[in-house]
Amino acid sequence: MPSRPYVLAESNWKAVRDTPFEVAILPWGATEPHNYHLPYATDNYETGALAERAAEIAWKKGAKVIVLPTVPFGVNTGQIDLKLALNMNPSTQLALLTDIASAIAGQGIRKLLILNGHGGNDFRQMIRELQPRLDLFICTINWWTCVKSADYFDEPGDHAGEMETSLMMSLEPDLLRPLSEAGAGKARKFRIAGLRDGWAWAPRQWSKVTDDTGTGNPALSTPDKGEKFLNAVAEKIGGFLIDLSKADLDKMYESD
Ligand SMILES: [Zn+2]
Repeated sequence: MPSRPYVLAESNWKAVRDTPFEVAILPWGATEPHNYHLPYATDNYETGALAERAAEIAWKKGAKVIVLPTVPFGVNTGQIDLKLALNMNPSTQLALLTDIASAIAGQGIRKLLILNGHGGNDFRQMIRELQPRLDLFICTINWWTCVKSADYFDEPGDHAGEMETSLMMSLEPDLLRPLSEAGAGKARKFRIAGLRDGWAWAPRQWSKVTDDTGTGNPALSTPDKGEKFLNAVAEKIGGFLIDLSKADLDKMYESD
């Protein structure tokens, strides 16, 4: 496969030196169990692939975007008792983000998109802290919120359910175990009504919530559903990248 000019890992110094990149995209995933049938790096495969597809769409429309390597470590404090769930604390993530963002800010890149693919990661407060210190516009997208998953799946699920399983069937079919080996992904709810209904919040202790590490039933997953959803999300993010690339940072708000 020839190298793609919008993927840093495939690019060389001459091409990078001569391209006036406007937007860097940092995919950020996690390494954690995903029921019995999906691999530990599921979030990284999904998020990296979406970043590349979206960047390709934007690049073909002339936007100078570059996908950075995927950060494979997410916040997994709620899964810390699950074997080889590799937690990275939010404070460590902030240190890592600070270093990456500071590096590219000094290299002429003006905008950074953090593409998040793991529910335990939350970059908003980090961006609030970091933004005033850097000459770099920083924004974030949780890719699973871009389009309505209920339009694409019978029962999208939360973790390793129909959505994630369908995406992985499309992206990395050789890494999946057959659906007959998957657990049902049954999730126990909080007893307290406010927490159950979502207007009160506390992190969930995963080992008490689910027996197979999944929260979502993968039974109705298909690669076709996955591919359609991937394309819809990539189109949406690709469009955003085009807008972001063109945007004048001194004129980010509508005029009166
Ligand atoms: Zn996942």
